[in-house]
Formats: sequence, C-alpha cells, structure tokens
Amino acid sequence: MRRLQRLAILLVVVSQAAAYPCTPNDLESCPKAPGGLRPDQVPQFITVTWDDGISPFSYGLVDKILGGLKQRNDCPIPSTYFICVTDTIPAAVQALYMAGNEIATHTMTHVGNPSREEIVGARTWLANATGIPESKIVGFRAPFLLHDEQGRNALADAGFLYDSSIPDNVPSKISPSLEQRSWPYRMDQGIPQDCDTGSCSPSERHNLWEVPLWSVADENGQPIASMDPPGNAYDNYKRELERRLAGNRAPLGLFFHAGLQSEASRVEELRKFIEYATSQPDVWFVTTQQLLAWMENPVPASRVEQQLKCEKPRDIKANNVCETFVGDCKFGTFDGTTCKCACMGEGTPGGYCPDPSTGECTVMCS
Ligand SMILES: [Zn+2]
Repeated sequence: MRRLQRLAILLVVVSQAAAYPCTPNDLESCPKAPGGLRPDQVPQFITVTWDDGISPFSYGLVDKILGGLKQRNDCPIPSTYFICVTDTIPAAVQALYMAGNEIATHTMTHVGNPSREEIVGARTWLANATGIPESKIVGFRAPFLLHDEQGRNALADAGFLYDSSIPDNVPSKISPSLEQRSWPYRMDQGIPQDCDTGSCSPSERHNLWEVPLWSVADENGQPIASMDPPGNAYDNYKRELERRLAGNRAPLGLFFHAGLQSEASRVEELRKFIEYATSQPDVWFVTTQQLLAWMENPVPASRVEQQLKCEKPRDIKANNVCETFVGDCKFGTFDGTTCKCACMGEGTPGGYCPDPSTGECTVMCS
C-alpha cells in the first residue's frame, strides 16, 4: 500500500514537472504554452492589475476606466488588486470582490523586501475586515518590486499560490523576442529570470508560481516599462497585443497604479484599447488566478469560455456585505454598515443629502 502511495506521489511530481518545464535548466520552454497547444489554439489572455490602497479615489478611477465595458460572454472586465492596508476601505474591497475581481496583497504598510508579518498580516487584515475567505487571497506583489528569498519563503509557508514581483524586460533569458514572451512559471526548480529589481538566490526553490511583469516595448522594440508605461496607452497596448497574437500568445499584462492613470486622455486611451481587445477573436481578460487555473488545466481557445464565468461569489463571510461602493461621497463619508454615504448635516435644512442617481452627497437638503 505504502509503495502504491509513493508511486502515486511520484507520478504527481513527475507530471507537474513535465507540465511546467520553464526552469533555469530549460529556458527554451519558457515561451511554450502549457498542454502542448499550438499558438493558434491558445486563448490570448490579458490581465489588468492595480496596486496599493483601495480609496474612494482609486475605486472611482478604475470604474471610470473599466465601468460598463463587457467581454464577448457579457461578463465585465475583471482586475486583480494588489492591496496594502494603508488607505484601504473594507467596504470598497467587498464590492470589488462581489463584482468578480481578484483580491491579492501588497503588504500592510507598503514596504520593500517585506517581512513575514507584513506579508501574512495584510492577508489576515483583509480577510477579517471584509469577510473574504483567506483561501481566495493567494496572490502577492512586493512594493517597489523589491523582492527577495525571505519574502518568497514567507509566501510559500503561508500557502500563497503565486508571486508577481519580477519584471521581464524583453529580450531576456525567458523571453527571447517580442513575439516569444515567457508564460508564468513555477519556482519548484529555481528562478529562471534575472532579478533586476530585487534579489534571487541560485539555490532557492519554492512551491509557488511566478507571474512576471512583462514589459511593454516601443515601436522599435525597446522596452519602455512594465508598470504604468508612459506614452499613448492605446498605441502601446495595441502594439503589444498584435505582437502576442502574431507570436506565441503569452499573456499580456496591464500593470497599473490608479494615481498614474487618472488623466482624462489616459482614461480614454485605455477604454479604447479594451474595446479594441474585446473585439478580437480569442482575447479574454482574466484575473491572475483565472490565468493560473487555465495553466493548470489548459483547454483550447474554442472551449475556454466554459471556464470563464462571472457568477457572483457566495463565500464572503461577514455580517454586512457591501455590493456597491459609491466611491467619493463628496460632502460625506461612506458608511460600511449601511453601504451608503453618510452626508454632512443630512436631513437638516442647509445640510447635504445623497443624489438619488449617484449616491454622493451633492444635493442640498430641503
Ligand atoms: Zn505599491
């Protein structure tokens, strides 16, 4: 019996190793899609991520960029939020989760090379403050992309699924060209990337995925940046998407800070890109967890729609769950117990009352 168990474990280990071959000793496998799929069978995934606290400002700005846009299956455009505790309003996080977004972590107080307490403490706080199960908060990004082995050890020990802190500036060891970018990889056999913004040890091994921050390159193929690349956002991302579609269809990442995307022209460029992308065949916006779930169970583009549903989660555990968040209440503050704005002087003459259409405290009470 014991021998059979050992054989079963061995088979699982062997099959995992075969499925995710991108390692320091097999760099050629990094641009290959999982499951042996040909590029024309691979769904073109796009992830959108937002870092830092969820404040009325960041919530409202993301809504301006993504609000009302739909995918071909009528689902909204989901994002992954790497959230630090500082500046974060729990009711806003609940509303994001209920709308199908992924909640991930970014330390408690936004420090680089974070300690175990900073990493695990942020997940504990998010779970306690919002009622989102810890088992659904499994992703991490290091502030300032300052990452190290100690942080990855803490993530693996605490049962996280993935890290996403290591930029990939094309061309690189794992991404040989603009059309052949790397897929996410597992760190069981080491880290195949150069670790420019942090430190990696040749001997470290982790039971974790790494989702690289793929850089965006200009029209001459020179890397611009992975996060908040300057220049026209529509042109930059359309060019990147075309390179992916003509190449190996590795995922494309839109990595943002809300504060750096707030100009009206920028909002327009991003909306225009997302409308363009959703009009292309086989292009899907996914959370990082959805991307990794597909990698663990890759199906061809023709069948991926069945994997990507947008059902409302039912596993949030709290006395009070806000499914809507008003954002900036203007003359008032959001009350998480009523899920509405509490306005200054509400109900009294000369005080502020909520606008019935926006919920913001912008109407003078009569
Ligand atoms: Zn940050």
